Amino acid sequence: MSKRLLLSFALVLITGLIYSQNEIPENYFINPLDGELVLAGSFGELRSNHFHSGLDLKTQRRTGLPVYAAAEGSITRIKISHYGYGKAIYVAHPNGYTTVYGHLQKFCPEVEAYIKRAQYKKQSYEIELFPKKGELTIGKGEILAYSGNTGSSGGPHLHFEIRDGNSRPMNPFLFGLNAKDTRKPTINHLRAYPLDAQSTINKGTEAIDVRLTQKADGSYQAENIMAKGSIGFAIGTIDQQDLANNKNGIYAITTSLNGETNFEVKMDKFSFAETRYLNRMIDYGLYKDKRKRVQKLFIERNNPLSIYTQQVDNGILTIEDSLAYQYQIKVKDYAHNEVIINIPISGTSDTISPKNTATDYKDFVYSDQGYNFNEGKFEVYIPKGAFYDDYFLNLKAEGDKLTLHKDVLPVHKNISISYDLSGYNEADRDKLYLGRINYKGDVYYSNTRIKDNKLQINTRTLGEYTIAKDTDPPVVKASNFTKGKWMSKYRYLKFEIKDLASGIKGYRATVNGKFILLEYEPKTKTLTHDFNDNAVTDTKNELKLIVTDNVGNSTTFETTFFRKPSIEK
Ligand SMILES: [Zn+2]
Repeated sequence: MSKRLLLSFALVLITGLIYSQNEIPENYFINPLDGELVLAGSFGELRSNHFHSGLDLKTQRRTGLPVYAAAEGSITRIKISHYGYGKAIYVAHPNGYTTVYGHLQKFCPEVEAYIKRAQYKKQSYEIELFPKKGELTIGKGEILAYSGNTGSSGGPHLHFEIRDGNSRPMNPFLFGLNAKDTRKPTINHLRAYPLDAQSTINKGTEAIDVRLTQKADGSYQAENIMAKGSIGFAIGTIDQQDLANNKNGIYAITTSLNGETNFEVKMDKFSFAETRYLNRMIDYGLYKDKRKRVQKLFIERNNPLSIYTQQVDNGILTIEDSLAYQYQIKVKDYAHNEVIINIPISGTSDTISPKNTATDYKDFVYSDQGYNFNEGKFEVYIPKGAFYDDYFLNLKAEGDKLTLHKDVLPVHKNISISYDLSGYNEADRDKLYLGRINYKGDVYYSNTRIKDNKLQINTRTLGEYTIAKDTDPPVVKASNFTKGKWMSKYRYLKFEIKDLASGIKGYRATVNGKFILLEYEPKTKTLTHDFNDNAVTDTKNELKLIVTDNVGNSTTFETTFFRKPSIEK
């Protein structure tokens, strides 16, 4: 064999090897729940500031269903937090993929004991652990945990994810998992956008909603559009599967102009680094103003999303005078159910008066520049790249209130707001915080730092901000016992904790001076201690619970209860 032949032979071998590593293994992962998959949320579904990174599996409105390891592997990460995925566990599999299970109620006994040891050691409910490979292993189909509703979960369900070797979430359906689906996606909105100052739609320079009629075959026909120049479309669409009516995301959208494909977006995988660019893809202002979520079928600048699989001219159409065009949008779910929308477009030469861009706002920002604004006692720092586009901003301060435009423009990077406290007397200063005023006028605490006589927050949401004061300590109540009670027959100690202004920051309890673990569930405002932890061992127990709020007010709750020492110990 010649050297060159040998080399090419080796190349073929290597290429083959790489290829097989990139191949997605089918039927390697099993359903982590019993029965058929019923979806409360699909992969890539449009959520607030992110794409959904897994499947939300329904659990019959219950908690405590067994969650099985989707394949054999090693537990490499456990994270317990009040928000986010709540109680979550990560299993690394020998083939390089990792599965993630979130919003759990509890873990299998071995893992539960492992976590409790760490929580008692750290004296904290919130914890993140990275067991060494091989330290905690699990077999395919073995019970890993029990489903729950912990963290930022709107109801009982299992959040299930598959991540590749680069920690990118992938569509679990690519691995052969599936949910019964014979229903076509539903189209609920179509919108057309003139994309530069010279372009028009129906003689106007503003985006318009396009009327749709559904035909007998299920396809949609749009009203004829007159257009000139560069235009693009956005669509609002959802998909429902057979076993539940939850409104989930679709899988792919393809568009064509006069029969030539010019754009395709597909939810196979993405990375966490890009997920916030969802706000660039949707019509953010429309969503905030009208609660209608549409996704653009064209790609604007500062949009690096990797989910676009085909594009010609970034999906932007150039409409010329007197020509007729057929634009078609195809929306698909993963089960290949498909909906077609036909949109006839006629090119016009209408000249219009130039777009009226006059505005009362004096502050203009270019996306590729950083800015520092001083408004009254407020200082606003907008870093380069905070915005995707260039905008006029409405920035103004009136006393303790700052108007930072309105939440209709997406923000990608943190904007810093600081407020000069020198006008306040020293005694009041440490009870102050910065908060965002919501549409109802309520003030929501923002994570506030006090430094150099200034309050400072970082935010990625425009809107109104104000200085607020919290002098009220948290309210603490025992929920299932009163002072002097015998608790021998009880499994749990329960408390209710509340802080109306700045919110709960921390909590810590001891019994006879010894730390006891409490689980905090912000949704129900409850703290729970499990006597099965065996942390309470005496008959007479002096309990002390300290709860603090975000500006440092604290409440100390003290009581006594009795308990027969359990026999196990
Ligand atoms: Zn989820």
